[in-house]
Amino acid sequence: MVVEYTSVSDKDFKPINCIACGHDTLACCNHKIIDRQDLGTPTVHRIQQHEKVLWKCKSCGTRFSIINPKIDFDSSFTSDVKIYVFKRVLENGDSTTRVAADLKTLHNVDVDVSTLLDWIQKKKEQDMNAKPGTNARSPRTKEATVICLDGTFKAVTPKKNDPGSEKDEPSCLHLTRLKDGRLAAYWESGSEKKKRSRS
Ligand SMILES: [Zn+2]
Repeated sequence: MVVEYTSVSDKDFKPINCIACGHDTLACCNHKIIDRQDLGTPTVHRIQQHEKVLWKCKSCGTRFSIINPKIDFDSSFTSDVKIYVFKRVLENGDSTTRVAADLKTLHNVDVDVSTLLDWIQKKKEQDMNAKPGTNARSPRTKEATVICLDGTFKAVTPKKNDPGSEKDEPSCLHLTRLKDGRLAAYWESGSEKKKRSRS
């Protein structure tokens, strides 16, 4: 089996200014490689390696990471895999069982049927929310809770039995728009929550 790697780095999208104080004294204070399964062929297993970077402002100490526009930050799979699933299940009407089997044998992507069902459910909710006139809360709010905290990096997929994943993290996560229009995620330093790392 041939394994092909592609790489995406947050360093290609380095923020210009600190999101808290505005100084341009930013440095990489931590980084981690996250592997995501990509759409392959019957003989090629493709892996996307994402270098996730934690930036630190040397001036005020604020640490933050950005949402890399090239990747689905909440998933262990690339967006190509998801698009493939949406096209087959939602547009062609194929069964999720069949699509999961084809992903395994034809594209070397190992994914559970339950994961596909979860994607489809979220996709339907997103499409519903995108329609004008609906006041439903965007699922994006919930997904943001999986962004790294307190200088360590945690799993990009929230664990089902993790009691803290829903109630603790949203309260200390902040989103802001950078000067160049990109969205940045950060958290305030000094919080009690920071000491409870589960990495
Ligand atoms: Zn700063």
